[in-house]
Amino acid sequence: MDPRKLILAGFERALPYIKTPDGKPMPDWIFMKLQEPERLLEGRIVIPIDDGTNATFLYYRSQHNTWCGPAKGGIRYHPDVNQEEVIFLSMGMTAKTAVIGLPFGGGKGGIAPRYNNLTPERTTFLRDYFPKKMSALVSERLTREYTEKIAPIIGPEKDIPAPDVYTNAQVMAWIMDEYSKIVGYTCPAVVTGKPIVLGGSLGRHEATARGTFFVTMAALNHLGIDDEDHSVVVQGYGNAGCIAAKLFYDAGFKIIGISDSKGGIYNLKGLNPHKVELHKIKSGSVINYPDSDLIDNEELLELRCSILLPAALENVITKDNAPRIKAKIIAEPANGPTTIEADDILYERGIFRIPDILANAGGVTVSYFEWVQNMERLDWTEDEVNARLKNKLVNAFNRVLTESVANKVSMGVAAYIHAGKRLTAAGMLRG
Ligand code: GLU
Repeated sequence: MDPRKLILAGFERALPYIKTPDGKPMPDWIFMKLQEPERLLEGRIVIPIDDGTNATFLYYRSQHNTWCGPAKGGIRYHPDVNQEEVIFLSMGMTAKTAVIGLPFGGGKGGIAPRYNNLTPERTTFLRDYFPKKMSALVSERLTREYTEKIAPIIGPEKDIPAPDVYTNAQVMAWIMDEYSKIVGYTCPAVVTGKPIVLGGSLGRHEATARGTFFVTMAALNHLGIDDEDHSVVVQGYGNAGCIAAKLFYDAGFKIIGISDSKGGIYNLKGLNPHKVELHKIKSGSVINYPDSDLIDNEELLELRCSILLPAALENVITKDNAPRIKAKIIAEPANGPTTIEADDILYERGIFRIPDILANAGGVTVSYFEWVQNMERLDWTEDEVNARLKNKLVNAFNRVLTESVANKVSMGVAAYIHAGKRLTAAGMLRG
């Protein structure tokens, strides 16, 4: 499936319900403008890699929409990154910043090896190498070259990158450093998700997972099931999944299943996600964790549980497995894990799905707080950051819930109605 269709279809489904501030249907030209990025930069980088050869990487930065403020969104290092995916993810960021009501638009960037005309062996090697086995030296060089390429279009008032899949605070530090050299002064506000000492915000590292936690608590409260003994299944054990598992566990929830790209583990009596994390750091995967049974990623998603957290990549809950999902609530730390058809099936089956653009918006929300602190030379405490995060996400949850109840549609459709109304108002005022 063309990944762009996922977000476009999200807007399309919401279209009949999106009205202008004076109650008229959304004008055509607004939707036409939302269908493509405002600006797309792509090209290639050739650098020496760890095996002594040279490799070509393709890089992208898509600025989808800037009606409400500078473009905002992460940079992904993954062997499958491509132009379509980056555009789809940048469109998702436009929806995400609009759902929360941040003064930003949507952007996304990414890098992947170029595979054209390579032997199958070389392709396999590069797919395995990038980015997990790349040394820090090569990663730094690649990041600095990428920064140089995108420098003309990024900046604190233009487009502010952040971490995404397989990029982290160190990568942000290199971008900040390279950009600062180019402009001739230290410019922390050009990226978010930086190390604290370079102007990063307390609470940013945990923010995506903490946001998922806050909206899930709001959902439990809304459904009137917040006093039961709840079980949680986590698919994906990277930054978002692992921290979410720990937050839920520390709050008294029972984590019964965890998986990563190599496979999954489960124990109906509960797993300790802190210990699973140590096991993954030592062995490279959650599998073979003592006191657990093996389970594959497909079966894991279908486990009976209270809360399912898809925290890996796109398209894991589809029309094929949606009829078999047994969770009461799905909250999505990942971007795009559920297809449109699956959302319809889940809604009909009474499964309460908190869509990605709301459930994982904690990351970009604290990115916004980081940017504000950088621009204003402030440093907020972690408690202040978390309190502001809770406030923004619970408010957004309630507004989306209001649309869902009023229009009798899923939270997935309602999130796009809410985002669409804001974008329509902003687009029309700007003309
Ligand atoms: N990559 C994250 C996302 O998809 C964070 C973006 C940001 O902080 O700008 O929401």
